[in-house]
Parts: sequence; C-alpha cells; structure tokens
Amino acid sequence: MIQRLKGTRDILPGEIAKWQYIEKIAKETFEQYGYDEIRVPVIEKIELFQRGVGDTTDIVQKEMYVFEDKGERTIALRPEGTAGVVRAYLENGMSSLPSPTKLWYAMPMYRYENVQKGRQREFTQIGAELFGSSSYMADVEVIKMIMTLLDRLNIKDIELNINSIGCKNCRKEYQEALRNFIRPNLDKHCDVCKTRFEKNPMRILDCKEKECKELNKGAPCILDFLCDECKQHFESFKNSLSDLGIEFKVDSGIVRGLDYYTKTVFEFVSKIDGLTVVAGGRYDGLVEELDGVPTPAIGFASGVERLLSIFEQNNPEMNFEKNPEYFIAYIGENANSYATKLVSQLRDKGIYAEKDIVGRSLKAQLKFADKKNAKYVITIGDSEIETEKATRKEMETGKEEEIDIRTL
Ligand code: ATP
Ligand code: MG
Repeated sequence: MIQRLKGTRDILPGEIAKWQYIEKIAKETFEQYGYDEIRVPVIEKIELFQRGVGDTTDIVQKEMYVFEDKGERTIALRPEGTAGVVRAYLENGMSSLPSPTKLWYAMPMYRYENVQKGRQREFTQIGAELFGSSSYMADVEVIKMIMTLLDRLNIKDIELNINSIGCKNCRKEYQEALRNFIRPNLDKHCDVCKTRFEKNPMRILDCKEKECKELNKGAPCILDFLCDECKQHFESFKNSLSDLGIEFKVDSGIVRGLDYYTKTVFEFVSKIDGLTVVAGGRYDGLVEELDGVPTPAIGFASGVERLLSIFEQNNPEMNFEKNPEYFIAYIGENANSYATKLVSQLRDKGIYAEKDIVGRSLKAQLKFADKKNAKYVITIGDSEIETEKATRKEMETGKEEEIDIRTL
C-alpha cells in the first residue's frame, strides 16, 4: 500500500468540522477588522522567497521545496504566505486601493523540516497582512485582532511575547556590536552560522543548535541599540497594549525566522507545550525589496494544526458531529418511493435527512439510523401513505408523536 509522505497528514471527516469552525471564526473576526481574503499560488519563482524571505534564513537555506519544471524554470513550493501576498498586492495594482489595505489567507505551506510534534512538512497557516500604516496603532490593532480570535476559540494559556528588532538604521550598529561579540568564538559555531556572520549576524541568535544557543548567551541586546524613532514606536505600542488591558512580556530574544521583519515582532506561545501558535511582525522594507514603492506593513501567521491541538485541549466538550434530523425508514416498494420523495422534500427545505439507499431490511435500516444518531425516525408503510399520518419517534427519549406528513 502506498503511504503518505512523511510530514504530511490526512484531515479526516471527524476532524474537518473543527478546521471549518476555526476557519469560520477567523473569517468572521478578520472581516470585522476590515480584512478581505486572498489566495495566491502554491508555486512561485524561487527568487520571490530568496529576496522576500531572505537567503540567509533557515526557510530558504534549508527548508524550501525546490524543483525545475519542464520549461527549466526554478520553482519553489510556497514556504510561507507573506512574500506571495506582497507579490500579488504589487502585481495586481492593489497599492492604489484605499490605504491601509488588509488581506487575510488560509493556505497550505511546504517546508522540508525535521518532522516532530507541531512541525510538519505540509501545514496550514491562517494569516493576515496590513499594508500602508507605519503607526504603532496598526501593530496594536493586529494584536487585538489575534487576541479576539483566540478568545472566540476559547483558547487559554497563551502568552504574548513582543520585541522590537529596529530598522535598517539602528540595526547596522547593533549588527556590528553583535559581530564583535560573536567573533572570538565564531569557529565554535555551526557551519550555517559561520555563513551568516557577515551578511546577517542576527540570524545566528535564532540558531536552534544547542552549542550555538549556549554561545549566544550574554549577546548584546537589540533594545539597547534602537534609534529614537524605533524606541518611540515600541514605547507607544507597549503603552497602547496596556491601555487595552492586553498582557505581554518583552522578550529581547525574539528575532523571528524571516529576514524581512523590522521594529515590532511578536509571538503567541502556548504555556502548555511551549509551541508558538501565532507569530508575526512589522516588515516596512519588504514591499520596496520586491520592487514596489516603499510601503510600511505588518502581518502574522498562525499554524492551524497547532491552533487546532490547543483548541481541542481547551474545548474537550464541543461536539462537531453532524447527525441527521430525520431518518425515513420504509416497508415495501411503494413506501420506498414515497420515502424517497419525502427525504428529498426535507433536504430541499435545508434539513439533513437520510433514507436507506442500499436496499436493507427494516431492522437493518433502523440499526443504521441508530448508528448515525438520527434525531427522529419516521417509518413509512402502506397505511402511512394512505392516511398521510405517521409516528415520529425521538430517538434519544423514545418519545413518539403522531404527525401529519404534509406538514414536514
Ligand atoms: P520556528 O522558529 O518555530 O521554526 P518560524 O519562524 O519558522 O518558527 P513562522 O514561519 O513565523 O515560524 O510560522 C508562523 C507559524 O506557523 C508558527 O508559529 C507555527 O504556528 C506555524 N508553523 C511554522 N512552521 C510549521 C511547521 N513546520 N509545521 C506546523 N506549523 C508550523
Ligand atoms: Mg521554522
């Protein structure tokens, strides 16, 4: 038997209702904040991610699915949503829309990862991007929207960690300080870190290798290097969060796995398993990097598989099973065609109704109705057809009621 690829999953009928529920709540919430849905291709030119995500990131250096198509183009499977959304925003002239422009998505992503708990090779992200505001107010609105979503999903035990990683200007000085800190021990770092030393030393702080992590202890802190503008932005952001009663922790260790971030970055982390469920930040330089006019922006993405697992832990009682409202059983051929019409009438009215289409005996029909947890069962025989009256049995209570079939 052929089996699925490592790091991929089948989402089965029993689970799909939970996915749809999460997607529905996300859609409703995002729409209340003015976001429109966008869908972009799974395949893009590799350059989009090399330039967009950054060619010193884990995603691009180690995790991207890349192949050559029959036209000898080098193509990548989308590892994240932001670069594609920015490309679509520019390519479709969306920068002329009223600003800020707000877009959300729910799309599968592909990364060649070490498969483990909460880490797959095909996974789904629900995310959003906001273009056209450089103000801290946009950052606050985004955070508030995520909190609302988590709240509506009754997801608890989540911590908000924030940081500022500055802008092009203040980062220059910080990177120099960081290089000075790393340089004496550079030869002890892993090979990937060594390649990042010149171009992007901040990436070294995000290295997951145990030895590198150890060496990174005591590194200079970006918050001490912020320029006045970045400092002011971060202060206003924090004050406004507190104003809204939103709790947060400043974690100067957050640098995020993508190169495009500037100023505000944040992670919502589960207190139960330590996994990050939502992550994002501001990326004021990315639109320009992808050949658009300079446009400030902020966005985030949430891994739905991780969200779902916490959702299930927090909502063990929630029942997503879909049970038929009616099961129409029949005795004999006349009753069979009568029941067929009746069941389609019910469905036309928008009611979930079932009837046997296998050709089972009455006893087997009723057994099936029971297995499907039908709410009511009506059995049709010759006398029911003649009188257009039938007995409706409520399965849970066993209560029986005489009804006029024409009123169904
Ligand atoms: P990490 O440092 O954990 O690898 P990242 O920086 O790669 O995170 P992002 O690219 O910002 O993460 O992804 C945003 C969110 O998408 C994550 O917080 C997580 O919920 C989810 N996610 C990322 N990679 C995976 C994966 N391989 N499998 C499942 N979910 C994922
Ligand atoms: Mg990662």
